[in-house]
Amino acid sequence: MNFLNESQTLWRDTVHQFVEQEITREYIRKCDTERVYPYEGYAKIARAGWLKLLIPESAGGDGGDIFDYALMCEGTGKFGFDFATAVMVSTFTAMNIVHHGSKEQQEQFLVPFMEGKSRFSISISEPQAGSDAANTKTRATLENGQWVIRGQKLWCSGAAADNVVIAMLVRTGEGKSKHEGLSVLLIPNNTPGVTIRRLPTLARRATGTTEIFLDEARVPESAVLGKPGQGWSIITEHLELERIAVAAAYVGNAQTAVDDALRYAHERIQFDRAIYEFQVLRHMLADMQTQVDAARLLVYRAAALAAASTPCSREVAMAKLFASETLQTVSRQGMQILGGHGMLPEADMERYFREGMQSTIGGGTSQIQRTIIAKSMKI
Ligand SMILES: Cc1cc2nc3c(=O)[nH]c(=O)nc-3n(C[C@H](O)[C@H](O)[C@H](O)COP(=O)(O)OP(=O)(O)OC[C@H]3O[C@@H](n4cnc5c(N)ncnc54)[C@H](O)[C@@H]3O)c2cc1C
Repeated sequence: MNFLNESQTLWRDTVHQFVEQEITREYIRKCDTERVYPYEGYAKIARAGWLKLLIPESAGGDGGDIFDYALMCEGTGKFGFDFATAVMVSTFTAMNIVHHGSKEQQEQFLVPFMEGKSRFSISISEPQAGSDAANTKTRATLENGQWVIRGQKLWCSGAAADNVVIAMLVRTGEGKSKHEGLSVLLIPNNTPGVTIRRLPTLARRATGTTEIFLDEARVPESAVLGKPGQGWSIITEHLELERIAVAAAYVGNAQTAVDDALRYAHERIQFDRAIYEFQVLRHMLADMQTQVDAARLLVYRAAALAAASTPCSREVAMAKLFASETLQTVSRQGMQILGGHGMLPEADMERYFREGMQSTIGGGTSQIQRTIIAKSMKI
C-alpha cells in the first residue's frame, strides 16, 4: 500500500534520483573519509531550488508542507545521515527566521540562504546543558545598543562551514524558572570574539560538529529573534521540526543499510552458496526491513499531523525514538551480514553504523523521547 499521493510519489522519486545521480554515494563517502564539509553537494541542492521548500511564497520561498520536507530529508539521508544533516540543519533553522524573524531579518538572512550563499546552524547545547537544554549559562547583556555575549556552546553542527549564521540560545535575563530569560540571537560565525573549533567526533565527520567560545562577541540589538525572553518557546517549536526531519533522514539511511546488506547477502558466496541462502540471515534481513517500514510509517504519521498543524509532540517523539533506534539496529545487523568487508569505508556500512550511534543522542536522546511519550500517556 502506498500512502503517498501522486505528487508526493513524484517528489520522493525525484529526490532519490537526484541524490543517486547528482550527489552520489561516492561523494558522500569521500566527504566523510576526508572530514570535509560537502560544499559542492550543498550547492547542487541550492541550485535545484530545494532550500526554498517550506519557506512561504510571501517570504520568497516555494512553499510546500512538512510532509514534502520529510520526503526530502528521507532522500538526502539515503547515503548517510551526515549529508542530510548539512542540508537539514540549515533548512530547519531557517524556519525559525520565517516564523519569528522581523522583516529586516528575513531580508538580511533568508534571501542569501535561499540562494545558497549562506547557511544556518542551531546552537542550543552547552557543556552543562545537554538533555537539560534550558540550563543555559552563556549570557548576553545589552551594552550601548549591542548584545555582548560571553560563554561557551557545544556540539553546534555545521557552524565551522563558510558563511554560517548561528541561531544561538543565550541567557538574557532571569525568571522564576530556568526556561525564562532565554533568547535566541542570530550570530554570523565570523563575528569577532567568536571562536569555533571542529570536534573529532565518531560520526558527522563531513558536516562537522563544533565547540564555540564567546569572548565578548558583539551583535546589534536587532539580532534577537522574536522578543527577548521568547527563546525557550522558539526552541521548543524548533525541536519538533528538527525531530521530524532527522527521523525521516534516519529512515532514508536505514533503508540503504538494508538494501546494501541484502545485495551483499546475494553476492557473497560461502560454502558454495550465497549467504542469503542461510535462513538465519534471511530472517535477520526480514526483521530489518520490517523495522524500517514501521519507522517510516511513524515518521509519515508525525509529518502528516505536523503538516495539518495538529499537535503531535507524542507522535514526533515516537518517530524520532523509533527511527533512530532502527538506524542503529539495522546498521549493526548490516555490519554482521557484511562480515569483515563491513569494516572498510568503501562498504559504507561502518559509516551508517557510526551515524546510527549518534542518532539516539543528537536532537534529544532516546531516554528524553521516552520521557515525552510517557508524559503523554494518561489513564
Ligand atoms: C554529533 C552530534 C551533533 C550535535 N549537534 C547539535 C547541534 O547542532 N546543536 C545543538 O544544540 N546540539 C547538538 N548536539 C547535542 C545533543 O543535542 C546532545 O548531545 C543531547 O541533547 C544530549 O546531551 P548530552 O550529550 O549532554 O548528554 P546528557 O544530557 O549528559 O545525557 C547523558 C545520558 O543521560 C541520559 N539522561 C540525561 N537526562 C536524563 C533524564 N532526565 N532522564 C533519563 N535519562 C537522562 C541521556 O539520555 C544520556 O543517555 C549534537 C550532539 C552530537 C553527538
